[in-house]
Amino acid sequence: MAKKLGRKSTRKTNRAAALRTVSKARTANRGPSTRSGSSRATSRDEPRTAKNAKYVYLFGRKTDGNGSMKPLLGGKGANLAEMCRIGLPVPPGFTITTEVCTYYYDNKRSSPPALRGQMEAGVASIEQQTGKKFGDLKNPLLVSVRSGARDSMPGMMDTILNLGLNDQTVEALAAKTSNPRFAWDCYRRFVQMYGDVVLGVQKAAGEDHEPFEMVIEGLKHERHHQDIEDTKLTVDDLKELVVRFKKLVKERAGKQFPDSPWDQLLGAVGAVFGSWMNDRAIVYRRKYNIPSEWGTAVNVQAMVYGNTGDESGSGVAFTRNPANGVKEFYGEFLINAQGEDVVAGVRTPEPVAQLKKEMPKAYAELERIRQTLEKHFKDMQDFEFTIEDGVVYMLQTRNGKRTAMAALKISIDMQKEKLIDWKVAIQRNPADQLEQLLAPVFDAAEVAKARAIATGLPAGPGAASGKIYLNADRAVVAEDKGEKVLLVRIETSPEDLRGMIAAEGILTARGGVSSHAALVARQMGKVCVCGAAALEVDYQARTVKVDGKTFKEGDWMSIDGTVGKVFAGQVKTAPSEIVAGLIHGDEAARKTEKFKNFQQLMKWCSDATRMYVRTNADTPEQAANAVAFGAVGIGLTRTEHMFFEGNRIDAMREMILAETVEERKAALAKLLPYQREDFAGIFRALKGYPATIRFLDPPLHEFLPHTKEQQEELGKKIGVPAARIHQRVEQLHEFNPMLGFRGCRLGIGYPEISAMQARAVFEAAAIVQKEGIKVRPEIMIPLVGFKKEFDLQIDVVHQAARDVEAEKKVKLSYMVGTMIEIPRGALTADEIAQTAEFFSFGTNDLTQTGLGMSRDDSGSFLPHYQELEIVKKNPFASIDATGVGQLVEIAVKKGRGARANLKLGICGEHGGDPSSIQFFEKVGLDYVSCSPYRVPVARLAAAQAALAAKVRD
Ligand code: ADP
Ligand code: MG
Ligand code: MG
Repeated sequence: MAKKLGRKSTRKTNRAAALRTVSKARTANRGPSTRSGSSRATSRDEPRTAKNAKYVYLFGRKTDGNGSMKPLLGGKGANLAEMCRIGLPVPPGFTITTEVCTYYYDNKRSSPPALRGQMEAGVASIEQQTGKKFGDLKNPLLVSVRSGARDSMPGMMDTILNLGLNDQTVEALAAKTSNPRFAWDCYRRFVQMYGDVVLGVQKAAGEDHEPFEMVIEGLKHERHHQDIEDTKLTVDDLKELVVRFKKLVKERAGKQFPDSPWDQLLGAVGAVFGSWMNDRAIVYRRKYNIPSEWGTAVNVQAMVYGNTGDESGSGVAFTRNPANGVKEFYGEFLINAQGEDVVAGVRTPEPVAQLKKEMPKAYAELERIRQTLEKHFKDMQDFEFTIEDGVVYMLQTRNGKRTAMAALKISIDMQKEKLIDWKVAIQRNPADQLEQLLAPVFDAAEVAKARAIATGLPAGPGAASGKIYLNADRAVVAEDKGEKVLLVRIETSPEDLRGMIAAEGILTARGGVSSHAALVARQMGKVCVCGAAALEVDYQARTVKVDGKTFKEGDWMSIDGTVGKVFAGQVKTAPSEIVAGLIHGDEAARKTEKFKNFQQLMKWCSDATRMYVRTNADTPEQAANAVAFGAVGIGLTRTEHMFFEGNRIDAMREMILAETVEERKAALAKLLPYQREDFAGIFRALKGYPATIRFLDPPLHEFLPHTKEQQEELGKKIGVPAARIHQRVEQLHEFNPMLGFRGCRLGIGYPEISAMQARAVFEAAAIVQKEGIKVRPEIMIPLVGFKKEFDLQIDVVHQAARDVEAEKKVKLSYMVGTMIEIPRGALTADEIAQTAEFFSFGTNDLTQTGLGMSRDDSGSFLPHYQELEIVKKNPFASIDATGVGQLVEIAVKKGRGARANLKLGICGEHGGDPSSIQFFEKVGLDYVSCSPYRVPVARLAAAQAALAAKVRD
């Protein structure tokens, strides 16, 4: 049962369904007519005449292109050329450039007239090198037609194999190879792929199964009365399949299957260009910010055959393990199969190490290729190969996607091996993945107690526990309800993506390192175990049978994606070695390779960086953690957070409810010792590093109780009539609190609040200073838009400092500065900088006020804006560089113009976002500040930005 269902979830069969899920309306506005890149492309083409334009680049014995030509030849084409140049065995072929794709969409889906001739020359070159002839009745040349964009777009484009076959050439191929089974297997594959990809014979709305697969299953049952493997189909079966496939094409597509090889080829090339604008490709590009102007190239390449028998096969491999980074030959292959079979999951592949026994010569050759690839590309490669009668051929190579753990280990190892230098090693770690390394692992003691029920491939490191769900939609619903979810599938496909995102971890019964689940896990940093063959997944019954037990949806399972183990029930997690070593001082953890590698990377980051990294911390513990992660100070302490704890909130409320200055001062006097304590704790945790302390910021009503019961309770506690509390709450009500009575406006309305806060800071400084710890407070006035606002507050602060210095007989060293978080503050930065000693960009509010968009209310329209690409990314997560960024730039320029040594930092959410950090490097800020657990990410991103800036100069 499982097998049968599994087949239906192959990549091919899922495409149609994935297409259907994208709404028609949305794609309608995305046709080629709305493309914005056409002007650029046309102008680029203009100087060329039709005669001298080169649309076709050969690779093989003569190779026109090379690996650096990805924009023109696409990733696949450029690297095929590069592999030819370094003498690797690549079947000859040619690449049609991405410019033709651009032309195609600029010219009503037609090709430049010169293309045909150049393609003919390309085919002639392949014929010459292979000794075969396209359409020949003795020794026919077959080709593959493969798409290839600049960046790899996994699963987005469709490859056609064995093109050139028809009822005559198939006989020639059979005779030439004395292998009719092989020839007819090629033919039925070709008709199936071509029918699907080019002629659009796909699962229709309401159909559960892909139509060609239905025909195969029908024939299998009719003739063999069971679900046999494809390799068991006889020549007669295959011949019959071709007939039925063609009939199906006629019915569904309304036209005859093309017999002429050239018609086939031109149709296939057109289809590849056409697929650049298919829904799946558009969705993928949007997600990864790939401009549609780039276009795709097309590769036409002589076929080599992995399906000629048991001395042949097809595989996918990595030069190192992409899950954990271990330097080992890692991958999988299928004997007697063509490439698509490996990824489609029709059969379960074997690990590549198995080849050592089965085809030692081919294995040795692959091992040699593996070494050559790494020496040449100096990075871990993900490559595709085919073995034809014992001879290895290379079909693709690219830099392999990897988990954060693998990225770390590979970068450090390659630097040790002198393949790369330390600066390149820094760049090899994707900053937005680094947090994966801090994710929890299973507690060793708990694992010892847990019941292991299955093992699979460790495809995504980390530990995950959750309630199992067998379907993506139900997983999403459960996650919405706050459940921890583990998505369990026989195999995953693009349709499952939402469920995979919602899940803590992904577990599949089938599929290897190149399966969809493994791919997605690597890309998204999900915990994943795949190919746990012992699982019997029953989608209908919604159960998983394993180890003599039946698990229902909603039951707990746990997976360890670092080792590939599956456990029954919920297993407790423990902090990652890095957190254990740095934060908890765990000596054993500090000795692990992961910990040491991480520290090495962070050390390099310190050497490379220009900006430094501070943290946003409100407690001594947070500050200490951040310092352990390498923060060199606090960029933002939000003092109001301190007012919510314990009885402090009561004193705070008393202060707010006060009717006279005297009453208010009395309440503030109660708060002062708390604040002093908090600041002292933070100063101690910082061990001499500076702390930026922001004065009270939120509107006061946020501190008051809003329900009647709460108001009555508070009234009793502090001896104030509930009615008065109610009245004060009403009074403080605002229509637009974000733009209301808050920030420095509070300190200006009630200077005694600022005075108390300043005094608390300085008294704490005096205390800690006497303990022998250096204290460097930087007092930050929020929401300043007018110089006068700032000046009024600065006077209060200086007065408090003088008072404390006199009382405690100490000398205090401190700074006073402001947050730049409203446009007027940015625009008048030159005035403000006359008295402010530092600026810290509060990019959260600066984005809200700059865009006139409330973050808390943006949920109702922003996702739609992102879909329409009005905004490319969420501006509250990644800075709007062209808009809000200008306010930052203006403030930097004007601020530094007025005060050359003005210190500049950023403390918004964006301080931990790698692409925003790039922007802050560019405008020349001194530091970024982010939450403690983001500090390593920010250090890495800042180092990378500095390295990139050096390259630009
Ligand atoms: P994708 O971009 O989806 O990986 P490819 O163009 O790489 O698509 O093709 C998928 C697989 O098809 C390859 O890995 C390879 O196994 C097979 N293939 C492509 N071209 C050839 C060829 N010329 N000869 C043999 N197999 C091929
Ligand atoms: Mg490929
Ligand atoms: Mg703010």
